[in-house]
Amino acid sequence: LANRKFHAQPSRIKVGNAEIGPDTLALMAGPCAVESEDQILLIAQAVKKAGANFLRGGAYKPRTSPYAFQGLEEEGLKYMQEAGKATGLYTVCEVTSLEAINAAVKYVDLIQIGARNMQNFYLLKEAGKCGLPVILKRGLSATLEEWLNAAEYIMSMGNENVILCERGIRTFETATRNTLDISAVPALKSRTQLPVIIDPSHACGVRAYVPALAKAAVAVGADGLIMEVHNNPECALSDGPQSLTFEQFDVLAGELKAYAALS
Ligand code: PEP
Ligand code: MN
Repeated sequence: LANRKFHAQPSRIKVGNAEIGPDTLALMAGPCAVESEDQILLIAQAVKKAGANFLRGGAYKPRTSPYAFQGLEEEGLKYMQEAGKATGLYTVCEVTSLEAINAAVKYVDLIQIGARNMQNFYLLKEAGKCGLPVILKRGLSATLEEWLNAAEYIMSMGNENVILCERGIRTFETATRNTLDISAVPALKSRTQLPVIIDPSHACGVRAYVPALAKAAVAVGADGLIMEVHNNPECALSDGPQSLTFEQFDVLAGELKAYAALS
């Protein structure tokens, strides 16, 4: 189902009036985690003004440590929905369990399967039954073949609206949190019709490097970007060091639109 051989045209995935696919650059931005009703609304307004069309925000946070902030769960989903309605942004939230999927479908426009769950086949099949488009992040050490098979799990349940998200992979390099595999974009485009987006934030883990990687993503033909933006990155409950400030995102969004128009 995800094999380019059987699909002459790249997929266009519709979300309301927006589309993820060829001839358009989806700009998804927001905090790593929804922290409060006010925080998500403030960020939504800022990223909307800068030109984003999707709002990201985690309500279920599978953190590396079980003692770190785990997310506001259903309450966070409600705040996402309110912020989406107030700004006209489409919303995306990660789901980590069937319970989270059942809650998310009531509030958000897309769901996200995180890197750590890319081969959670039970979760993939449930995502395939939920009726919402799914952003499938690449596993930390997954090959393209394994990743595409994970997409097949979702699609085999009747949901062909899958968007692949490259978010950096594990390598020997420690200067960045992960290593952005930029070649995954053309390599995927030759193998599958599915849209491919890039998450430069988790790929590098360093705010100062995000703009360069985001521009590289556009140059290499990605269909969109998902980036972390925070009203006060120093005090963020998760992933502050890689979160852009409002000002940085505003400048970057303008540059990305100009780049996309050229390519
Ligand atoms: C996230 O998007 O907040 C996240 C946890 O990303 P990943 O699954 O890529 O680590
Ligand atoms: Mn994060």
